[in-house]
Amino acid sequence: MNARSEAGGGYSRARQAPAPPPGSGGSGRTGTGAGFQTMWRELAAVGRDSGSGGYRRYAWTPADTDCRAWFRAQAEDRGLAYETDRNGNQWAWLGDSAAGDAVVTGSHLDSVPDGGAFDGPLGVVSAFAAVDELRARDVRPHRPLAVVNFGDEEGARFGLACVGSRLTAGRLAARDARELRDADGVTLAHAMERAGYDPDAIGADPERLARIGAFVELHVEQGRALDLDGHPVGVASAIWPHGRWRFDFRGQANHAGTTRLEDRHDPMLTYAETVLAARARARTSGALATFGKVAVEPNGVNAIASLVRGWLDSRAADEDTLAEVVAGIEQAAREHGARDGVSVEVVRESFTPVVEFAHDLRDRLAALIGADTPVPVLPTGAGHDAGILASAVPTAMLFVRNPTGVSHSPAEFAAEDDCAAGVTALADVLEGLACR
Ligand SMILES: [Zn+2]
Repeated sequence: MNARSEAGGGYSRARQAPAPPPGSGGSGRTGTGAGFQTMWRELAAVGRDSGSGGYRRYAWTPADTDCRAWFRAQAEDRGLAYETDRNGNQWAWLGDSAAGDAVVTGSHLDSVPDGGAFDGPLGVVSAFAAVDELRARDVRPHRPLAVVNFGDEEGARFGLACVGSRLTAGRLAARDARELRDADGVTLAHAMERAGYDPDAIGADPERLARIGAFVELHVEQGRALDLDGHPVGVASAIWPHGRWRFDFRGQANHAGTTRLEDRHDPMLTYAETVLAARARARTSGALATFGKVAVEPNGVNAIASLVRGWLDSRAADEDTLAEVVAGIEQAAREHGARDGVSVEVVRESFTPVVEFAHDLRDRLAALIGADTPVPVLPTGAGHDAGILASAVPTAMLFVRNPTGVSHSPAEFAAEDDCAAGVTALADVLEGLACR
């Protein structure tokens, strides 16, 4: 990945994307369809790679700057008070931002490498569309409302997810954030500065969080639970605990053509057995375990590897199960390593505890949007800004059906009618929380 590359076209008012992605239209049933569609088309061109069709909207790059310009234009078009906070997160306020007990909704606009159109932007576009819907309904909020775009949610450039919300919630020290580096060695501080923001200003923002009474993030579902259930919209119950572990398998480099099989210390074998063990452990525990990244030394086609380094991502419904799964995988790695003459070292690189969303807010959301048909309440294995904010303010999430479950890919999708249902649900929630 080259984080500096500016993919796709920039955002400007005069420019329209040649063709909107699927699911970009509104049904018209909610009275917000045209607004949604227009916003979606404007954003569709920004940071899109013409080769892959995916998005490359990395923090503090020109594509990110274009996304931010789009957000600001949406705020100003609606007469919302626009501001950026000390961490570069963008806010658009309806009502007095200082009054407190605000209802905030939004998500993020950055992407993973070759990400889809919906992860993040659906929450921001739906937030503006829901504000339009409230105005169309002629309801008057008695609590301040805000739309937010949290910066650097995916962590695609600097390797740490949710930097904007982590800083705000005091879950990431400003000094550590400033020193994060991208693949080209550029620090986050320098990247922010180049994008016109002050890296010396970043840090915890408890005063801002104290003014938020509820945060609701709408997000495309990154799984198939709603599709299997036959519902367009659901409410999140929890975010599974998850973590990343680095497995180092060390053996002995040797000639692939002359070394007898019985004389080898081949870490690739141990690694392969460990990948299979991870799958088996995850299946029996109802958890998830994935080796999605691997580095090999010397990485030669005619050489037995000396080192295989594999990264395990694992998630489960609760922390005990997760610990059991990872311990089981580690045990399997050591057993196979002993047989193969390969040493095994395991380092936990990150861990995020379970996030239980505020039960009363969650139940309120379910009641507000499920008056006719009960809505599914479901957990997710994916991290979100909402998961970070949940430690500081009452937080909830809405999910919009993703028929294939594919995410972090250009194939990510939500149908037109489901996007419209998401906007309606979000407007119902905002109306219920802020207007009644
Ligand atoms: Zn997201």
